[in-house]
Amino acid sequence: VKAAIEPPKAASNPTGSWRCPLCAHDGAAGLLPGGLVFEKERFAYRECSGCGSAACEPMPTEATLQRMYGPSYACDSGAFETEDEAAMVQILGWLGRRAPGVFVDFGCGSGALLSRVRAASWTSVGLEFDADVAARAAVRSGCRVFAQPSELRSSVPSIDVLHLGDVIEHLTAPLVQLQELIGWLRPGSWLLAQGPLEAGPCLFASVMRLAASARPRRMAHMPPYHVLRATVSGQKAFFDRLGLDTLAYTISEVAWPAPERFSISVLSDPRRVALFSLRKLSQMLSRVRPTRFGNRYFYVGCVRSP
Ligand SMILES: [Zn+2]
Repeated sequence: VKAAIEPPKAASNPTGSWRCPLCAHDGAAGLLPGGLVFEKERFAYRECSGCGSAACEPMPTEATLQRMYGPSYACDSGAFETEDEAAMVQILGWLGRRAPGVFVDFGCGSGALLSRVRAASWTSVGLEFDADVAARAAVRSGCRVFAQPSELRSSVPSIDVLHLGDVIEHLTAPLVQLQELIGWLRPGSWLLAQGPLEAGPCLFASVMRLAASARPRRMAHMPPYHVLRATVSGQKAFFDRLGLDTLAYTISEVAWPAPERFSISVLSDPRRVALFSLRKLSQMLSRVRPTRFGNRYFYVGCVRSP
């Protein structure tokens, strides 16, 4: 992930006005209650009055990002990997619609997706910032895994499908950074992306927000990994700004951050029981309007001919 996280220089807005990094609307509502503390620095989230998404304020600096995504990140980040069977099946289904070519998984983690895509006769290549994690992913998947984007670019001249799984929400200048990655592709190539929609809308997100309003001074002690908390419409507006032909934008609702299954460990913790039950109810309601409500997107865009 880190490779895409290096922010471009001079990313600050010279006029001082706030602009939503996702939908580009230039009107901010207030700061959301609560926030994060990392190395004694406070990070709040400012809400967009256009799309309802929220963005970290201030955005972490390059130096902070270096420390956030240091060696310990590989251990912390396991929860965000694409090992979910349904997500893999969805990706493989899309790849089955075109002739096998070169698939690049940007932020490939353990390499589980690389193996599956390779088994479907694709040339499967990974990028993972941590050299040790990259080496392990290469062994596990039998695919080439690079730790540097420049090495990948010089070794892989043509990419047919670029996959960003749980990457975009980490980007401090998402439009510029995505445009750079799209520059790696050629007309007819696909960008496949999936990730969280932490601002919903869904019942779960609304209740969590109400709970945060009740304890506005409560700060969580963790790095601001997800600098963007998108809504269904904010994430869609962001993809529209990339100038690709949208082939798919679908919404689902997954358990995270609520527990996935009802186990003994959940049962012994009233808070986790409440989260589990709230998520089940929220998923039931969201299924009534599956294009409007949920907490996760899946996107496919095709690069246009010039
Ligand atoms: Zn917005």
